[in-house]
Amino acid sequence: MTVLTDEELDLQSAVRDILTKKVAPLVAEHERNRTFPWEVLPALHEFGYVRGLVASEDGGDGMSFSQLAILMEEAGRCWGSLRTTLNILTIVPYLISQVGSPEQKARFLPPLLSGARRAWFAMTEPDAGSDAASLRTTARLEGDHYVISGSKIYITNASHADIGIVMATVDRSAGAKGITAFIVDRTESDYQVNDIPHMPVRGTSSCELVFAEMRVPKENVLGEVGRGLSAAMKAINVGRLNMSMGAVGLSQAALEESITFVTTREQFGKPLAGFQLVQEMVVEIATLTQTSRLLGMNAARALDSGEPGRMECSMAKYYCGESANKAASLALQVHGGAGLMEESPVERIFRDAREATIPEGTSQIQILQMGRDLLGVSALR
Ligand SMILES: Cc1cc2nc3c(=O)[nH]c(=O)nc-3n(C[C@H](O)[C@H](O)[C@H](O)COP(=O)(O)OP(=O)(O)OC[C@H]3O[C@@H](n4cnc5c(N)ncnc54)[C@H](O)[C@@H]3O)c2cc1C
Repeated sequence: MTVLTDEELDLQSAVRDILTKKVAPLVAEHERNRTFPWEVLPALHEFGYVRGLVASEDGGDGMSFSQLAILMEEAGRCWGSLRTTLNILTIVPYLISQVGSPEQKARFLPPLLSGARRAWFAMTEPDAGSDAASLRTTARLEGDHYVISGSKIYITNASHADIGIVMATVDRSAGAKGITAFIVDRTESDYQVNDIPHMPVRGTSSCELVFAEMRVPKENVLGEVGRGLSAAMKAINVGRLNMSMGAVGLSQAALEESITFVTTREQFGKPLAGFQLVQEMVVEIATLTQTSRLLGMNAARALDSGEPGRMECSMAKYYCGESANKAASLALQVHGGAGLMEESPVERIFRDAREATIPEGTSQIQILQMGRDLLGVSALR
């Protein structure tokens, strides 16, 4: 049974077709070399990647969250690194379109939406991860510029992008109310980028950013001074939805690989598919995939209906991420030794699924946020 409308099924089929033809054949080599085929991205923009969520008056496609969810499932099914890359490339223009000034939209949206330039988003710091509001990067106003000092870590693709959004505090004593978002353009602001080697999504980079008295024009404040966290909250549900549906895509890929393997590999004189214990593993992967998809699409539909969608997005992020890990682990078991070999897509899916429970709020943070909303008591601190 599908949860998609006929129009959504058409979108899914068109996107799956282009990803299968243009990206899937490139994955193994780029995964091995830890590189990314940037040249394929502009063609994907035509399907709504990157520009889909931005309103048409701002140069985007004005897509629904449900359509975005489909795009992200398909990206995840194709390659975890593709979904991770497209997540950040989608979030930054969405945020600028939601809270940016007319001048910021006119300056930054066209190059981002066309793919002429790429973006990063920097919140996490060495001492501020889940507790993002405790960040220490500072911004001091000096004449027409803010002077930003501090460092960020694990910033996706910062080494491949030159426009960014950085969260910094203008007043640490004000706590969350001092946090401000700044648009950083590398052509006018100098910062250092260092790669941090990492395990999953090998086609992406995870970077340290070092800001040593970096000067940012004061007109680059995104939204209001002191309202950076509330600006970021505009994108948090989108990030969680993207990650949820990307995890569904990984589970779907794990399922398809498992079905192919068990119907072609024989042991004890018959296909693996004929053994009850093997069937149990494959059916479990299928069940995890479909339940995840239902929760992910439920979150997208909630956002489409204008609801805040906070609980739905947290629940989807938690469940889809954890389920993708279970599904990938089962798929690896189904494949036996072959699943642990780098030539098997399942080896990559297993590593990429491991990412699904950490960024955009870990599984524990999702649980605690849902617990707070359900019970009215915060166990976060
Ligand atoms: C591949 C990847 C890409 C990323 N990309 C970006 C990016 O582009 N931009 C960006 O800003 N960040 C990015 N991040 C950072 C990511 O958002 C953080 O890693 C995440 O928020 C968790 O923070 P942390 O790693 O500091 O873990 P910590 O906050 O130190 O948590 C460690 C463990 O403690 C648990 N924990 C923490 N607090 C509590 C609590 N109150 N109760 C119970 N358990 C708790 C966590 O769930 C986790 O299991 C990325 C991370 C990865 C791995």
